[in-house]
Amino acid sequence: MDGEPVSRARVGVLSLQGDFALHAAALQTLGIEPVRVTLPEHLDGLEALVLPGGESSTMLRLLESTGLRAPLERFVAGKPVLATCAGLILLAREADRLPLPTLGALDIKVVRNGYGRQIHSFSGPVEFAPSPGPVNGVFIRAPRILEVGKGVTVVAHRPAGEGAAREPVGVQAGRILGLAFHPELTGDLRFHRWFLSELAGLAVPRAESSRTSSEAA
Ligand code: GLN
Repeated sequence: MDGEPVSRARVGVLSLQGDFALHAAALQTLGIEPVRVTLPEHLDGLEALVLPGGESSTMLRLLESTGLRAPLERFVAGKPVLATCAGLILLAREADRLPLPTLGALDIKVVRNGYGRQIHSFSGPVEFAPSPGPVNGVFIRAPRILEVGKGVTVVAHRPAGEGAAREPVGVQAGRILGLAFHPELTGDLRFHRWFLSELAGLAVPRAESSRTSSEAA
């Protein structure tokens, strides 16, 4: 990595629980040094934030105990946020079976574990409108997006197949990109890149890794 361009952008990764380390690694691959967010003051001065997958009910509890909830609510109301899987649940207007209210910044309704339990986790093709070409989505006890509000654009779909209709798996509203799957697990960083450059307006100094999904899994 020495000698390669590095951005001065301050991009945070909520690091209370879940898959934060691989999101941090994805940002590093793209030349951005991530800021680990575990306390309210870590949000100060951030230009963008990643909310990783993990366990949304646990994350909501940890947001309360760390004092992060209120400052995070203010952050997600206007700043660029990439929210994946449990992160998407945290931002949803409505989600089921949670011990605390969601942050509600994204006008969607989701059902948790909407594709089934852990053993029903799968990977499969995803259509990402801003960056056409085959891309794989890893769905791990993923939320299913049931309703999308007026100001929300569907940017990623699962194609129809095996008796299932084409359905939304990625949404964008303002500077928020929400994905039901785990883009940090495949080595294909086009979702991170698009978020950083188009929604956060940041320069992304390095090319994606050439790692393939199978190497990363
Ligand atoms: N099922 C988890 C939840 O409800 C989300 C799974 C994930 O983030 N991979 O929080």
